[in-house]
This record gives sequence, C-alpha cells and structure tokens, in this order.
Amino acid sequence: MEHVEIRVDKLKGRSLFAVKDFKKGDILFEETPLVCSQFEWNALYKYLACDHCMKSLENAEDMSRRLAANPSLVLPFPQCCKVKKEEHTVCPHCKVLYCSDGCRDSAWHLYHRVLCQGASVADPNHPTEKLKDAWRNMHYPPETSSIMLIARMIALVKQCDKKDQILSKFAEFCKSTVNEEEHIAHKLLGKEFQEQLEILRSLVCEAFYDEHVQQWFTPEGFRSLFALIGTNGQGVGTSSLSVWVHNCDALELSDEERQTLDAFIDQLYVDIEKESGTFLNCEGSGLYTFQSACNHSCQPNAEVTFPHNNFTLQMVAVQDIKAGEEICISYLDECDRERSRHSRQKALRENYLFNCNCSLCQSQIDDPDVTSEEEEEEDEEQMQEDS
Ligand SMILES: [Zn+2]
Ligand SMILES: [Zn+2]
Ligand SMILES: [Zn+2]
Repeated sequence: MEHVEIRVDKLKGRSLFAVKDFKKGDILFEETPLVCSQFEWNALYKYLACDHCMKSLENAEDMSRRLAANPSLVLPFPQCCKVKKEEHTVCPHCKVLYCSDGCRDSAWHLYHRVLCQGASVADPNHPTEKLKDAWRNMHYPPETSSIMLIARMIALVKQCDKKDQILSKFAEFCKSTVNEEEHIAHKLLGKEFQEQLEILRSLVCEAFYDEHVQQWFTPEGFRSLFALIGTNGQGVGTSSLSVWVHNCDALELSDEERQTLDAFIDQLYVDIEKESGTFLNCEGSGLYTFQSACNHSCQPNAEVTFPHNNFTLQMVAVQDIKAGEEICISYLDECDRERSRHSRQKALRENYLFNCNCSLCQSQIDDPDVTSEEEEEEDEEQMQEDS
C-alpha cells in the first residue's frame, strides 16, 4: 500500500491517510482479507461460492433460476456470464468447492488442513458441524457475522510457522471495552447472549483448542474475539448474476435490443425479489487490515467495492482527496445515510458504539432531534424486542 498509510493514535486508535493526491473515481488500494468466510445460512441455502475467495460459482442462468424459482428461465447473451466451471475444483478429502486450483492450494496451505473434515458428507456429530448448527440457531438471516471466521482465525494460527506474526496482525484490529463487547454480543445473539456465548465457546474449544492461543478460549478472551469479528468484519457479497448484468450493460446493441434486454432484466429482478427478497448474493464477511483502519464519516471521501466478484476489496475515492487527508468511509447503508443527523447518530451508536463528530454532523448540530414516522415505528419494534 504505497499510497495510503495507517496512523496510530493512543486515544483515537487507527486511522488511514492518503500520502498522495487522488481524483474522484481513483482506486486508493486493493486488498485481500487476512481471513474471510461465507455466512452459514447463505451457504446452507446453496449460494454456491468458492470456499476460499467467495467467488460465486453458479453460472448466471442457474443462479437466476434458483433465485426466481423458475427452472426453465433462459438468459440471453450467455457470453456475458464469466463463470468458468472447467476451472472449479474440490478439496480431495472433504469435497468443499473452490473456483480454482490456486484457491484450493492457498486454503490448504493457510488453514484448511486444520479445518478439513475428511468426509465428503458432513457428519452431524463432527464438532465443527455441531458448532455451525448451534451458530445457525442463534444467528438467523439477515446475517452479519459467522462463527467460522473465528474458526479460521484459530486454524490460521495453528497452521502458521510464524505464530507471532499472524497474532500481531490480528492484534492490530480495533478492540472494545468490556461494556462494548457485551453490547456487540447482545446485538449479534439477542438477549440470552451470555449463555449463547458460553455454548459457542465450549463448542469452539471442543473443535479447535490450541495452546498457542489459550487466551482466545477463556470466557473473557472468547468474548473479545467475538467482539473483534463483530466490529471489524467487513461484509462481502458476490454474484455471477451481477457480473452478467454488468457485462450486458457494456454490450453494443441497437436501441430496440437494448430496450428489450433492459425490460428483461427489470422483470428478472422483480421475479427474484418475489421469491428471494433481498437475499441476492453469496454473502460473508472478512477481516481487512487497511479497510478496518478507515474511520466513519457521514460525508465519506471513499467507498468499498468488490469489482472482481470475489473477496478482493477495492477502496475508491468518491471525492478528490489531497495528500495528508484522512480517508473515511460510511459505515451506514445507503438509506440510513439519507436520514437526519439524529437518526444517523443513533444507528452509529447502536451498531458501532461511537458518537459521530464528522463535518456533516458538526454542521447539523443545531438541527432539531426529529425522527421520521418510519423510524419511530422501528424504535417501538426495538423496544418490544428488548423487553
Ligand atoms: Zn476462489
Ligand atoms: Zn477438505
Ligand atoms: Zn456524522
């Protein structure tokens, strides 16, 4: 990362700064995660993805057939689908899927030797299966995290010859106080989070105990680890259907052909929404060293994208950025970003445990604390859930 640098401040923690000028639209950097994992429900519901890089493995037509529950659907312009089935491969022992020999070998070399369950049909009594099952029963869709991210962190350390190096990389991620850790666990597991955490901890111990990371297996250590993936995990979404749509957009067509194709795609998304709601992508989360150093702003100068249909993250400037300027992204999704200062701050406090002091929030400091009706309804629902 020659063009950005992480600065560490005792009070503020890590921040990311530009070391050269960037124009709007420039790529600041690309990075792959230290560790990444598909979500458990997402995998169970056959959103087929490479077990290492999360590349979407169904071809676009199969994916749209499944999502729209229409087995006879035919996509025009099949050449716009870039899935290469002939390159796909499996672990010879447990048969998990990979997009390529390269991903299979990387996974084996980094963590899969520890995690491989050997048999091609998962044994429900295998400690890892028990752990996944327990996790799915605690964390329903829409998913925001995965216990297998923790499993992979442990496996990475177990397989690594230079354990100090990998542990110091994990140590760079943002840490929370005990109160914050409890809040995050509550958010992810619901009101019985303390018992649930203890169940998960004992299952993780049973499956992966390792003396080199003893500290992660104590109740306090496990809670911290859980909070670490909760606060630092960056969502990853991939879809061979999106790739097909994107490539269709670039086709040179007559006006009439373009209209027909656009109408087809619009209808396809309507049909998919009816059947699958908002669950369109292969989804998971990963830990990224540079992205996780980016602080939030309600008026960000950069955004995260996944242009390669896999876990490779690209940070793109959404405004001109000068050398020496801090790089900020928005932790809020698009609809939350449009809301009032009061609502934005509430969402950031609840999900990310801080009070936003960005330039936009500063400039709106005198705005009345109003919430729209929709937000009030959400507040009521939340209160009912909590009670
Ligand atoms: Zn892959
Ligand atoms: Zn395997
Ligand atoms: Zn703000």
